[in-house]
Amino acid sequence: MDTIRQRLEHDLNTAIGRLRHLGGAVTVEELPGAMGINSPFADEVDGIQASECQDIGCAIRELLAGRVNRLSAALDRLDKGEYGTCVECGEAISPARLHVMPEVQTCVRCQDRIERFERQSGRKAIASQFDES
Ligand SMILES: [Zn+2]
Repeated sequence: MDTIRQRLEHDLNTAIGRLRHLGGAVTVEELPGAMGINSPFADEVDGIQASECQDIGCAIRELLAGRVNRLSAALDRLDKGEYGTCVECGEAISPARLHVMPEVQTCVRCQDRIERFERQSGRKAIASQFDES
């Protein structure tokens, strides 16, 4: 069990480190001032700022933040002795699956069910958008 803890802690530290690194490197807020009001690109920079969370850096930050959450939740479950069991059905998660994704919370069957449900609700949302127009 200690090796799983070490792996989780290592992955957590790596993810947090990458998150910090990204946070320091992305300074979109400082761009307009540095370029000056008379810059021909000022309007475009405003546009970039408005859609701040649609850029790739933001998407990566969100992915990493999600991973940090899952890894710390996995360490929590390890402390409680619940690690390795599916949070949905309570069945044991296969060791092979845990080896590939140590932070995983659900067994393959439940993951399939959740992903199918999300795809279905996503399709419904898109379909209702078309209905309105
Ligand atoms: Zn399950």
